[in-house]
Amino acid sequence: MARERGVQVVTRWGHTLTDLDALLKRHPGGKPTTTYSSFLNHLDKQLKAVPLAVLNKPRQLPPVVDADLAGLGASAATSASSSAAPASDAADAFGVPSAAALCLGPATSGVILRGGETEALARMEACLSQQGGAWVAAFEKPSTSPTEIDPFGQHTRSTTCLSPYLKFGCLSARVLHERVAAVYAAHPKHAKPPTSLHGQVYWREFYYACAHGTPNYEMMAANPICRQIPWEDDPELLAAWREARTGYPWIDAAMTQLREEGWIHHLARHAVACFLTRGDLWQSWEKGAEVFEELLLDADPAINRGNWMWLSCSCFFYQYFRCYSPVAFPKKYDKDGAYVRKWLPQLKDFPAKYIYEPWKAPIADQKKANCIIGQDYPKPIVNHELKRALTQQKLPMSKKVLPRVEP
Ligand SMILES: Cc1cc2nc3c(=O)[nH]c(=O)nc-3n(C[C@H](O)[C@H](O)[C@H](O)COP(=O)(O)OP(=O)(O)OC[C@H]3O[C@@H](n4cnc5c(N)ncnc54)[C@H](O)[C@@H]3O)c2cc1C
Repeated sequence: MARERGVQVVTRWGHTLTDLDALLKRHPGGKPTTTYSSFLNHLDKQLKAVPLAVLNKPRQLPPVVDADLAGLGASAATSASSSAAPASDAADAFGVPSAAALCLGPATSGVILRGGETEALARMEACLSQQGGAWVAAFEKPSTSPTEIDPFGQHTRSTTCLSPYLKFGCLSARVLHERVAAVYAAHPKHAKPPTSLHGQVYWREFYYACAHGTPNYEMMAANPICRQIPWEDDPELLAAWREARTGYPWIDAAMTQLREEGWIHHLARHAVACFLTRGDLWQSWEKGAEVFEELLLDADPAINRGNWMWLSCSCFFYQYFRCYSPVAFPKKYDKDGAYVRKWLPQLKDFPAKYIYEPWKAPIADQKKANCIIGQDYPKPIVNHELKRALTQQKLPMSKKVLPRVEP
C-alpha cells in the first residue's frame, strides 16, 4: 500500500540483536546451527562485521500528507518530542481502547507488572545498578533461584524478570545488551556466556535464528531438527499437570505461580517441562508449549518452542539421563518449602520433612497440618522413580524406531 502511494518504506531489524538473514548467511549452507557454541562464533563474526547500534529516536517526524489520514490531525504530525494530546477523533480511531470497550470486567488480581517502555527501562536500570553493577557482572544463570517468593518485587531479584518487556518490544534487546556491556566495561572480571547476562540475550538470539531458518520449527512433525518421539496422548495427565493437580508440590506450586503471575523462573520451567515430557508423564512437548503460550506473559514462539524441544530432548540437548527430580531438585534451593507454602496454602502447615513428598507423612502429621493427602491435596499421579526408569529406556529407543525427518 505504501509503495502504491509513493511512500518510501525503510525496513529495519529491531526485535533481535542482528539481521537474522545476514546472520544465517554466516552459517554453513545458510542453515541454523543447533549448537550454542558454534552459534556464538557466527554471531561474533556478524557483530564484528555489523557492530550493534542503538538508534537515536527521531528528532522530528515528517508531516502526514495523505488525505485519508487527515483524521489524525495535527497530533500525529507533531514532532516526536511534543507532548500534545491526540485529537479526539484520532484517539477514537487509533487510541488504546478502555477496559470497558473490550468488555473486560474489573481486574480480579493485583497488577504485578506495569507495561510500557518507561517501566521497562526503570526495571532494567534497577537491575543494572544493583550492588553498583556487581550483580550484573557476577550474574550466572545456574546460580539463580527458581523458588523466589516475590520475583517481581523491588528487592534484589534472582534474574532480571525483563522477559515480558523484551517479548512485547517495550525493551529493546540491543539497549539491554549495550547497557550490560557498559557495566562489564567497569567490571573486567565479569561472567561469560553461556551463563552470563549477555549469554542470556544470546540464547534469545540463538532460538530466534533457529526458528527463522527452520521449516515447521513450532511442531514435531516435518520439523527437520526435531527428534520424532512417540509421545503418549493422555488428556487426564495433561489436565492434571496444567491445573496443578499432579500431587508433586514443587510441580504444582510452579504451575500455580504460572497461572497466577504469568511467569516462572527458568529452572522452574525446566522442571515442569521435563516432568510433562521425558521425565514422568511422557506427553508431547507441543501440548506443554501450548499451555505456556496461553499462560506466560513472555510467551514467545521462537524461545518457547525451542526450549520445549531442549527440555524434552527433542533437539539441542540429548542427555536424557539428566532428569529433574520433583523432590530432590527444589530442596537444593528451598529446604523448608516456603515457595510451596505460598502457592499451595493447603500445605502451609506441613512439616518441612514431607513438604515435597506429602503422601509419605504419617496420618497424624497430615491431620495436624489440616491437610489429608488424597482429600485436601492429591496423591501423586505417577511414581516418579518408576516413571523415570521407564522413560529413560524409551528415549534412546525412540531415536531408532522413528528416525529424524529430513526436509
Ligand atoms: C520450557 C521453557 C519455555 C520457555 N518459554 C519462554 C518464552 O515463551 N519466552 C521467553 O522469553 N523465555 C522463555 N523461556 C526462557 C527463560 O526461561 C526465560 O526467558 C526467563 O526465565 C525469563 O526470565 P528473566 O527475564 O528474568 O531472564 P534473565 O535470566 O534475566 O535473562 C534475560 C533475558 O534473556 C533471555 N533469555 C533468558 N534465558 C533464555 C533462554 N533459555 N532462551 C532464550 N532466551 C532467554 C530472555 O529474553 C530474558 O528476559 C523458556 C524456558 C523454558 C525452559
